[in-house]
Amino acid sequence: MKILVINCGSSSLKYQLIDSETEAVLAKGLCERIGIDGKFTYKPANGDKVVADIDQPDHKKSVSIVLDALTDKDNGVIADLGEIGAVGHRVVHGGEKFAASTLITEDVMKAIEECNDLAPLHNPANIIGINACTELMPGVPQVAVFDTAFHQSMPAEAFLYGVPYEYYTKYGVRKYGFHGTSHSYVSKRTAEILGLDYDKAKIVVCHLGNGASICAVDGGKSVETSMGLTPLMGLIMGTRSGEIDPGAMEYIANKEGMDLKGIMNVLNKQSGVLGMSGVSSDFRDIDDAIKDGNAQAKAAKDAFIHRVVTYVGGYIAAMNGVDAIAFTAGVGENAPDVREAVSRQFGYLGVQIDDSLNNIRGEERIISTPDSKVKVLVVPTNEELMIARDTEALAK
Ligand code: ADP
Repeated sequence: MKILVINCGSSSLKYQLIDSETEAVLAKGLCERIGIDGKFTYKPANGDKVVADIDQPDHKKSVSIVLDALTDKDNGVIADLGEIGAVGHRVVHGGEKFAASTLITEDVMKAIEECNDLAPLHNPANIIGINACTELMPGVPQVAVFDTAFHQSMPAEAFLYGVPYEYYTKYGVRKYGFHGTSHSYVSKRTAEILGLDYDKAKIVVCHLGNGASICAVDGGKSVETSMGLTPLMGLIMGTRSGEIDPGAMEYIANKEGMDLKGIMNVLNKQSGVLGMSGVSSDFRDIDDAIKDGNAQAKAAKDAFIHRVVTYVGGYIAAMNGVDAIAFTAGVGENAPDVREAVSRQFGYLGVQIDDSLNNIRGEERIISTPDSKVKVLVVPTNEELMIARDTEALAK
């Protein structure tokens, strides 16, 4: 079956057409600046990348451009739309309603809409993408794959916040966690690579990208993760602060004369390694600045690593052990020095990195020494493939 995977943002739409039998990506690309003007990128597996300025006033237009490109006489990869067996959508927030991927029905759409309050920037965009596909491909089964679903297995002791319980029962205030598709894929793949029984293995996944989170996977289930009700919690990220004393927010608000909206904007968009370094949210720029002797950039990177270490350590304790630590996403896959610095702090558990094995970027590999008690791996994440797999299973 050929599956169209769609990841809709408020002004962007990423897509891949995946053949579920071979798991090959037939074509992929990106619509950007939707509602502003419109940029379109299309890359067929065996052809050249096409980049074009195409007006995209809304997501429906973007989906129709994608479908036109996929069926184009010269550059297309399918003869007609009938070849698309199902569409899989990434949906950011499924609240407590969804602990797994699901076939989209009217009731499911209502339930996703009910989660809009929890992810006001993301869920409405996901819904627009689903509606656009319904209009342009009537009758084609569609599946929602939630960022939060994998973490629904967390026990209450891990997901409850230390606030009045009624906020949980009345408003659903609790930890949900994100990047679930990635944590699920990487932890499964880690068990496969190591020949571990997934149902028994204890794995810590470090998804370190622009957004970053850590997950403890015990016996194939997420039992702890670092993001919270929103993706602002936990690690220091590209532009997000991660964990911060809530009291500091009041203090800053008073000093700067800022309201809550202003504070949230700072914590989401002007913090993280960007705000700390004053240089960039991109670790490649941070590394360049460090090479030039920028002490503030060095402090930002050190703090980022320190935060990762303290979370990984806590999660190993929560699981009462660990078999493997896996690194993924932009920084996790491409920064040997970060992997080394994190792993070094677990020497006391018998973690040993092999420097030459660790000297890779974007490749799947065990990077610990053969006699390392705890295995350390790089596992490039593949959320689209995971979405395609779930979609095929549900659409069949
Ligand atoms: P997201 O999907 O959250 O936008 P990614 O997982 O693509 O983020 O990660 C993007 C980040 O990965 C970039 O901001 C950059 O800091 C980091 N990155 C990419 N390549 C490298 C590299 N070669 N060395 C260090 N960091 C890198």
